[in-house]
Amino acid sequence: MEAIRFEDLNLSDAVLRAVGDMGFEAASPIQAQAIPAQLEGHDMIGQAQTGTGKTAAFGIPLLQKIDPENKKLQAIVLLPTRELAIQVAEEIRRLAKFMHGIKVLPVYGGQDIVRQIRSLKDGVQVVIGTPGRVMDHMRRKTIRVDHVHTVVLDEADEMLNMGFLEDMETILSQLPSQRQTVMFSATMPPAIADIAKRFQTDPVMVRVVKKELTVPEVTQYYYEVKPKNKVEVLCRLLDLYSPKLSVVFCNTKKGVDELVQALQGRGYFAEGLHGDLKQEQRDRVMNGFRNGRTEILVATDVAARGIDVDDVEAVFNYDIPQDDEYYVHRIGRTGRAGRVGKAFSLVVGKEVYKLRDIQRYCKTKIIPQAIPSLDDITDIKVEKTLDQVREMLESNDLSDMVNIIEQKLMEEDYTALDLAAALLKMSMGEDNEDIIDNFETARSLDDLDSYGRGRYGRDGYGRDHYGRRDGGRSRRRGSVERAAVDYVVGDDMARLFVNIGRNQNVTPGDILGAIAGESGIPGRVVGSIDMYDGYTFVDVPRKYSDQVLGAMEHAKIKGKKVRIEEANGRDQSSRGRK
Ligand code: AMP
Repeated sequence: MEAIRFEDLNLSDAVLRAVGDMGFEAASPIQAQAIPAQLEGHDMIGQAQTGTGKTAAFGIPLLQKIDPENKKLQAIVLLPTRELAIQVAEEIRRLAKFMHGIKVLPVYGGQDIVRQIRSLKDGVQVVIGTPGRVMDHMRRKTIRVDHVHTVVLDEADEMLNMGFLEDMETILSQLPSQRQTVMFSATMPPAIADIAKRFQTDPVMVRVVKKELTVPEVTQYYYEVKPKNKVEVLCRLLDLYSPKLSVVFCNTKKGVDELVQALQGRGYFAEGLHGDLKQEQRDRVMNGFRNGRTEILVATDVAARGIDVDDVEAVFNYDIPQDDEYYVHRIGRTGRAGRVGKAFSLVVGKEVYKLRDIQRYCKTKIIPQAIPSLDDITDIKVEKTLDQVREMLESNDLSDMVNIIEQKLMEEDYTALDLAAALLKMSMGEDNEDIIDNFETARSLDDLDSYGRGRYGRDGYGRDHYGRRDGGRSRRRGSVERAAVDYVVGDDMARLFVNIGRNQNVTPGDILGAIAGESGIPGRVVGSIDMYDGYTFVDVPRKYSDQVLGAMEHAKIKGKKVRIEEANGRDQSSRGRK
């Protein structure tokens, strides 16, 4: 695991300052490959998913090519959803923080077009948008593409999935032929491979090649948490398991510094380790950890590399690592020299999909756990305090203390029991506010595919909580060859086409109700329901697809006769053309 420094990637000072400011310590594996390929001017196909640092992997080279003096549009990033447009625009703005005169604008359907036109008139060099809206602006000439030298298709397979094929083709065919075309896609369905063939020139393929890794024998747990509760949950786990020594991993230097401060503020013996430390400070921190003065070492992946301490009892992934391989290296910090180790991962939102991939790749089991409640912590703390009391009673002469207490009891109006209770409470410290509001049992990573609806609910457009229409299901890894046969819907789900949609006044709920009601399959096993104006795609477990097709043959939805059939990849993309 060789770390590539941003300083070695031939980047401008402004970009280096920005990544430093963002706290990035080293380039992620996909960045280490993708940035040089793009800087050399090649067209590129990258296979990577969210959470790997993919946005900066195309954002950095793109920004390096923008001429701030030229106020014309120079780069377009196309992506499937409004959420992604906003997130990517934010990340690119952060990267451009020290580049003066660069304007980045997200444009997406659903936002007032007049406002967008006004912003575009200000001279925007980078547009980050959904294909439909970008095309709309091109038609209105509010986006002019004659100076565009870079186009990025982010989550190309997802755009295909959402019926944007024709829009992508139209946009690409209108761009200047002298340009760089970069594509990121988690899978490579035929229609996307075809776009690459038609619109790219000798693209370089970039993906992180996985090594065979031996996963150490470590019990691994994960907890679904809200960002604001991460510190609290970590503290509860530290209290509950009270590991003698533990290593906590953060993805950035900034994250390390902030967490160390928070932990020290709560009275933990924590120190941080990252690349900004001088050798001297590093030695001091490591010595403290080795001799047990520091119980919690908070570190970045790069900094933790040299840690050779055998009795680390627990590893915490405060942030989910950017690369599967990092995960294995991290948890390998514990369970050494034949000891039993534990690894705990905190996941926020869609990171749970990242963790699922890690579990698959590492062929390991990461067990969901409920966040320990305050009662659990109290029980443990009481137990620990009473142990100390017992030890004290056995090994000390307490007669002086007994005298003092006797005296007090005679003077004051309370009992020995009251006194003991008050002292116990004092020794345990103040309780924290309870964070387990609306707590639900965490889900097994294997069950994620059929999950989604129950927990996160869908909006009227079949998107889940994260604005993804498929709950992340299409985000499969695998070689291009395999991906070509394995269409975007997972092997275990079949995608059905229903010939009614929003224009017929039906809702995803009506379709779900009809399918479950007619066929008798449980509603919760139905996957995503992607509703468009004139038709709808529904994912059902493959084993039920014949049952559903049979039951729906003469069925009506909201009094309307419908046609329902299996949507295979090709049909689906040509339907996208309408
Ligand atoms: P992405 O895969 O683009 O969604 O990025 C996931 C997260 O990782 C974002 O919060 C980025 O800011 C962050 N990130 C990107 N590159 C790095 C890096 N080299 N080191 C640490 N964090 C990074």
